[in-house]
Amino acid sequence: MRSFVDVILPLPLDGVFTYLVPEEITCSLRPGMVVRVPFGHRRTCPAVVVRSHNDEPVGYRLKKVLSLGSGEPVLTELQMRLLDWISDYYLCPKGDVMKAMLPSILRPGDDREKAFRPKTETCIRVAGVFDIQDYAGRQREMLSAYLELSSDADIVTKKALLEVCNSSSALSALVSKGVLESWKHEIGRLPVFDGKIYPVNKLNSYQESALSSIRKSFSTQDICLLHGVTSSGKTEVYIHLIKECIDRGGQVLFLLPEIALTLHIMRRLQKVFGNDMCVYHSRCSDAERAEIWNRQLGSEPFKLVVGARSAVFLPFRNLSLTIVDEEHDSSYKQDEPAPRYNARNVAMVLSSYSGAKVLLGSATPSMESYYNALNGKYGLAVMEHRFMDIPLPAVDVVDVYELRRKKRMTGILSPLLENYMRDALNGGNQVILFRNRRGFAPVVHCQACGWAPKCDSCDVNLTWHKGLSRLSCHYCGKTYGMPEVCPECGAGSFGFYGYGTEKVEEEVHSLFPNAITGRLDMDTVSSTGAYEQVLQDFQDGVTNVLIGTQMVSKGLDFERVSVVGILNADSMTGNPDFRSAERAFQMMQQVSGRAGRKYGRGHVVVQTGRADDEFYSIVTGGQYSQFYQNEIEERRLFHYPPFYRIVSVCLKSTDNTILDEAAGWMGNQMNMIFPDRVLGPDAPPVTKVQMQYIRRLMLKIETESSLRPVRERLILLRRELESHYSKVSVHYDVDPM
Ligand code: ADP
Ligand code: ZN
Ligand code: ZN
Repeated sequence: MRSFVDVILPLPLDGVFTYLVPEEITCSLRPGMVVRVPFGHRRTCPAVVVRSHNDEPVGYRLKKVLSLGSGEPVLTELQMRLLDWISDYYLCPKGDVMKAMLPSILRPGDDREKAFRPKTETCIRVAGVFDIQDYAGRQREMLSAYLELSSDADIVTKKALLEVCNSSSALSALVSKGVLESWKHEIGRLPVFDGKIYPVNKLNSYQESALSSIRKSFSTQDICLLHGVTSSGKTEVYIHLIKECIDRGGQVLFLLPEIALTLHIMRRLQKVFGNDMCVYHSRCSDAERAEIWNRQLGSEPFKLVVGARSAVFLPFRNLSLTIVDEEHDSSYKQDEPAPRYNARNVAMVLSSYSGAKVLLGSATPSMESYYNALNGKYGLAVMEHRFMDIPLPAVDVVDVYELRRKKRMTGILSPLLENYMRDALNGGNQVILFRNRRGFAPVVHCQACGWAPKCDSCDVNLTWHKGLSRLSCHYCGKTYGMPEVCPECGAGSFGFYGYGTEKVEEEVHSLFPNAITGRLDMDTVSSTGAYEQVLQDFQDGVTNVLIGTQMVSKGLDFERVSVVGILNADSMTGNPDFRSAERAFQMMQQVSGRAGRKYGRGHVVVQTGRADDEFYSIVTGGQYSQFYQNEIEERRLFHYPPFYRIVSVCLKSTDNTILDEAAGWMGNQMNMIFPDRVLGPDAPPVTKVQMQYIRRLMLKIETESSLRPVRERLILLRRELESHYSKVSVHYDVDPM
């Protein structure tokens, strides 16, 4: 009987491809293995086996599998199921999912075989019996150096040996006489923790009771939400759960929204779990990722994997608990490129396949998760008190519009914030200022005619970066020199308006000449390690005012911060996106959570031009439940999640006219198939990025109805559109954030 395999190619193509299997390799094929197959005209391509079978496909000439890769499967069966799920749910080709899952060294490459090579070092050992008395001079010294080193260590490296007796010629003479020999010793690339291991901290009564509600909920349910205010000790509760799970022989996956932002948590976990844990994220080198991957496939996998979103793709043998910290965070969602997946949701699917429990943790849960918890779909555990009962900070909302009108505020900082800052700095405390815009001045224009510099490739005004002395496009990263004169009217004077983090820093310096500032935004942390340095300096008190974008809001735990300023809250709430209120609330709560974590009550000053907005009275109250009640009604009324699922459709082309036509066609088709559930097509606020024009549509489907038929229609539509309009590309984003 002839046998066949279905394989996934590492290309953005829908579906699987079938090949004929030559007899000599039939019996060794297993799902998850890599094979090399012919593809296209003269190319061959490595691919991953999904299934072997005997159903001869009809209608086309079959090609043969050329060869078998290295042997062992690189993906487990469970991972292959997960791959299918991601590809189905997120409407994304399997090849793209495979590429996202595998570290590139393990991934079947496009044209050259990249093999994962374990890291080795050269060592020396005895090759035959010898009597040291038979040797003299340098060779005798070499042998006695060898004997000395091998008496305290199991392995003698060549490097260590030559440090004691520096004569490579004596060494090679001994090797050629067959007395010594060199060999390759395999060593790991992963950092080894050699600090002290501490026992878990004792929990306080609130934490104990949250822990027992979690355990209780896990006895009947698979997912539990831990809603604990900032600094209530959620991490301590996680540590207890992880410990219990590992002690029972299970593996734990701990997801964090962004690894760079969570150095603190990693250090805390490492103190308890030492070398039982590893850290996996996209900033690890490819070889490190492959090493972790292989170790997870082997017989002694790490018991705790801490990682950012890509850690959900690792193989686990016995996953029994997944923790998703800051589960509301939008960085769990990958926007670009495909697969556009949400790691929180993928983690839930992975856990259900593995029979593992899931704990979601947040001070400001996502609307979806809280809704599910209130409806009994998830368990719920609550911690309303901060550790040591430190009160939550006092929040003042300041109306900057009013202050400016009355000429009581001319710069960026309101008098109230300035006073709090002065007190804080005089008292030896620290300040965090949040502004979600980098650069110096976001608005630049000619004072004679109003001309404003724009990016060549994007439909965006450029931001002035004073330190760089350049104008910069925040969409594509291109920078430009400042023109001497206006290219439109020839006048020579430009106005700079608005402010970004860079200008905030300048104002702080002029108001507080003794303040030492640190700045955390994409401009200051572009080089590796710079991020950690800025935070370390603040932690050590080398700096006392930290200014930054959203980066300052997450996972930081500084003891001496007594004042937090949110400088332009309207730039967060004024966004037309249906999630903007949710995101602004989360951001403000998270940033405020940085204030007064240890030494008494902190102050938060929120500066806004719309102080009367009900939203701000909710922010001042700091009650999540009040925010939730308001927001959930809006979501119900306007058909948004958690009541509806959203699929956003994005069309791109370098040709605006054809794009318009294609978007019109798509709109008509979608309206016919999904009546009353389509918004658009329309142009986003930024209509062109990197020479590509953009149009969007939004599809809303009732949460309780099945998505399967919807997905099938959408896949057909995409194919049809791309065949009518070859210059237009379409992508779908399911559950966009
Ligand atoms: P959250 O994750 O909820 O923001 P953390 O777990 O970071 O809170 O706790 C806030 C601070 O309180 C941390 O510095 C932590 O070390 C300390 N802390 C919380 N609970 C305990 C405990 N049971 N024993 C000792 N320290 C604790
Ligand atoms: Zn001009
Ligand atoms: Zn640009």
